[in-house]
Amino acid sequence: MSEEIHGLQTRVLHTADKFNETHAVTPPIWQTTTFRGDSPEQLAELGTALHPTEFYTRYGNPTHKQVETVMAALEGGEAALVTSSGMGAIFGTVMTGLKSGDHVVGQTNHYSATSKLFRDVLPRWGIDSTLVDQTRTEDFAAAVRPNTKLIYIESPSNPLLHLTDIQAVAELGRSKGIRTAIDNTFASPVNQLPIKLGVDVVVHSATKFLGGHHDLTAGVIVGPRSYLADIWDFSIIAGSILGPFDGWLLLRGLKTLGLRVEQQNRNALALAQFLESHSKVERVNYPGLESHPQHSLARRQMKGFGGMMSVVLKGDERVPARLINSLQLAKCAVSLGGVDTLIVPAATMFAHQHSAEQRRAAGIDDRLVRISVGIEDERDLISDFAQALEKS
Ligand SMILES: *Cc1c(COP(=O)(O)O)cnc(C)c1O
Repeated sequence: MSEEIHGLQTRVLHTADKFNETHAVTPPIWQTTTFRGDSPEQLAELGTALHPTEFYTRYGNPTHKQVETVMAALEGGEAALVTSSGMGAIFGTVMTGLKSGDHVVGQTNHYSATSKLFRDVLPRWGIDSTLVDQTRTEDFAAAVRPNTKLIYIESPSNPLLHLTDIQAVAELGRSKGIRTAIDNTFASPVNQLPIKLGVDVVVHSATKFLGGHHDLTAGVIVGPRSYLADIWDFSIIAGSILGPFDGWLLLRGLKTLGLRVEQQNRNALALAQFLESHSKVERVNYPGLESHPQHSLARRQMKGFGGMMSVVLKGDERVPARLINSLQLAKCAVSLGGVDTLIVPAATMFAHQHSAEQRRAAGIDDRLVRISVGIEDERDLISDFAQALEKS
């Protein structure tokens, strides 16, 4: 199932066909903890094999193998590993290549738990990090030290939709022999293929666009076979292992990834344009708008602009709650990327991981709301926001 021959929707549907030896069109779930050996000798061999699929589910599982094969094909990487959450994927990727005394370059704007990992957790293991403004490409090179072992980026980033020049950072890493990794959750492989732009490792919260239905928690890592082997080795100790049923749900969610994300791209662009022209809206952060300061970079490195945006409302800090309480379709909930439109006031959402001061430093306005656009009909979504803005 190669990308040259087959489109994305064909690949999500058929890449893993070869792992289904039954006649069932929908593959069964290997809902088992352990697998019987043909003999004690053969079982012992499996116990020392790399990422075996039929030994013990913490080491691997045929359902996971199917998801991993699809994800490697979608991102264009050699190998993949599923984990129990996006943070499991991020933690495994970051920790595997680092030891005490090493240094990481990250961004000032990251998913909040990733920021906490760099800011509070890594220093306790003697690992330093420098966090740079991702919109200033030259700052990445300036932050590199002799002991830098990883450059970790996220684009578009949460919640301000800032972009990183992925190709430039990948080239920097390559030229200095430093591994690069990206959180590709917001874009999804439908809209952005970082490995093609030169990045080594891609991580996802599969909880979001990949699963797509707000019904599972999972993560995925895609990258070079040798590094994935090291991450697997770390992850079976860390224990961030996905359950087979969630792996199967993820496989099912992936079957409609292209359809869902294309609809989310269309809905989000239409909603962003509507909101931008509304008198009660101060600013819309969406890479697909010409007013986005990095719109030309978005055009260069993204195929579509995604379902995520954030919006600064006019008025005081009570306006987000008034808008959200008046919406009838969009639900007030964290998480993102699924079929239902979700909205959250950014300030309260980040309150548990960022102090008011840190939020201000990161540019998170008290009147900022983050919207994850779903697959509802475009016209219904826009009228919902129109009526709620009238009341807010
Ligand atoms: C949600 C999210 C994560 C964390 O994923 P979990 O599945 O909740 O662990 C990481 N990065 C981004 C960009 C996210 O949106």
